[in-house]
Amino acid sequence: MQKTDDQWKRELTPEQYRVLREKGTEVPFSGTYNLLNDDGMYHCAGCGAVLFSSEGKFDAGCGWPSFDRVVNSDSVKLIEDRSQGMVRTEVVCASCGGHLGHLFDDGPTQTGKRFCINSTALEFNKTEL
Ligand code: FE
Repeated sequence: MQKTDDQWKRELTPEQYRVLREKGTEVPFSGTYNLLNDDGMYHCAGCGAVLFSSEGKFDAGCGWPSFDRVVNSDSVKLIEDRSQGMVRTEVVCASCGGHLGHLFDDGPTQTGKRFCINSTALEFNKTEL
């Protein structure tokens, strides 16, 4: 999906634009989905692609929604991120290129993964599961 900057600015809230298109990070513990425990699916707020399920969600205590897996590994791209003096793995929506968050290898479940994702990059849909 290719959209111009102007299109994204029109369709997204300023905070969504800052996170998804400018690789920003929301203030920890500020997001809508940080502590949400309901059953359902989490979509990309930019393009609607299904990314995460409540089945993989856990509370990492870090202030951002955390998941131990993606629903379909093709739905995200992992990119080495050397910004801010760290080497991290950036998680990007494969469909629209939107920045979602980062992936760490210190997850508490069997997968060992912790997808640390900005709430504002996600759209929760309760009815689908
Ligand atoms: Fe997307």
